[in-house]
Amino acid sequence: MMITLENLRHDANGCIRCSNCKWVDHIYMKSARFARICPITQKHAFNLYSAPGLMYSALAIMDNGIRFTPALLDALYKCTSCGACDVRCKRNLDPEILSVIEALKAKAVEVGAGPMAEHRAVAKNIETTHNRYSAPHADRLNWLTEDIKPSVKADILYFVGCAASYADPSIARATARTLLSAGTDFMVSTDETCCGHLLYSTGQFDAFKRQAERNIKMLEQSGAKTVLLSCAEGYKTWKVDYPKILGKSTSDMNYNVVHITEHVDTLLKSGHVTFTKQVPLKVTYHDPCNLGRLSEPWYHWEGTYERYGVPNPVKHFRRDGHAGVYEPPRNILKSIPGIELVEMERMKENAWCCGGGSGAELAFPEFASWAASERIGEAKETGAEAIVTSCPVCKQLFQRTAKENQTNMKTYDMAEIIEKALP
Ligand code: SF4
Ligand code: SF4
Repeated sequence: MMITLENLRHDANGCIRCSNCKWVDHIYMKSARFARICPITQKHAFNLYSAPGLMYSALAIMDNGIRFTPALLDALYKCTSCGACDVRCKRNLDPEILSVIEALKAKAVEVGAGPMAEHRAVAKNIETTHNRYSAPHADRLNWLTEDIKPSVKADILYFVGCAASYADPSIARATARTLLSAGTDFMVSTDETCCGHLLYSTGQFDAFKRQAERNIKMLEQSGAKTVLLSCAEGYKTWKVDYPKILGKSTSDMNYNVVHITEHVDTLLKSGHVTFTKQVPLKVTYHDPCNLGRLSEPWYHWEGTYERYGVPNPVKHFRRDGHAGVYEPPRNILKSIPGIELVEMERMKENAWCCGGGSGAELAFPEFASWAASERIGEAKETGAEAIVTSCPVCKQLFQRTAKENQTNMKTYDMAEIIEKALP
């Protein structure tokens, strides 16, 4: 069943307006200060800015009750598609809340109301230069240095992504050096193009499907069987959104998807990686939405809902959030000599989104900075000197916001921390 609003009417209709999706699961809630989980709800305190508000808007759009007004577009595109509401809703119920939000964005694009101008500009960049920054495609591998020589052919393809290729090459270099140090044979491809995450998450499904097909063809032609990523957005895109847009399950794809933290954690456990250098730092780990609760495998389902809403055939529900990549980064940090890991109140499936996802930072930079400030404040409460994350968007936003707020909270990517600890 394709992700269209009409196909998801049952799910939008399944919202009972209980508002559970606005709060951290009460079992894990530790304080009133950090009890909220939906950034748009906390910022605006008006029901349109929430999952139930968007569910009812979706129904009203389908029934021609309302149009995509500027207010609705503001709420819809400030929503970072972080998936917190979906996880919280599925604690008790089973509607596909996040899929409805994604389909509502796609409907806005279909009728010409969305996405925001900043998202259209990125789509144009991707179409013309194959990357989100409009940088020359020929420069995509400029991050490679003399000491980094990937194989010409290997079973593992390191898909670097736009951010690490162009904007933050220290992440790409740290990842490649980690792989070389661990003896992992890997290749990179000059034919890599933007994963398309921003296209999918802003509802530009046609352009996203073209990117999915382009990159899957690139992978097939490379001969590699595993895609390794250092970027949370790319990881979720290959694992969840490519199958989703193609009407398949993750298990139907003829490739494996591995994040660098999963790979290093496996090598740590088998003794093929040892951390020898001291990294004296008290850190807290920020779970990127796309590596945490959003990264569970996708299960394609086509069918009908019968009496009492029973799905026929049986549906595999996902996104209670428990199958995200939570332990590998934490295991790694705990294994590095000198690192002290302290946890924030909202963690794992209950993590607070940085505020930058799904193009929200591009279109609404002040909102994104506010959400990031909330997270930096939560990190400070732990006594940590630095936030470690696994997503270049989170890293960039935290660094920009810390500078704006004149706080001394540092942010590192996991790959950079790993590289510091290697022999
Ligand atoms: S989306 Fe789910 S959790 Fe949120 S109000 Fe609706 S039914 Fe309740
Ligand atoms: S996806 Fe995130 S920002 Fe959007 S409504 Fe759900 S919890 Fe709020």
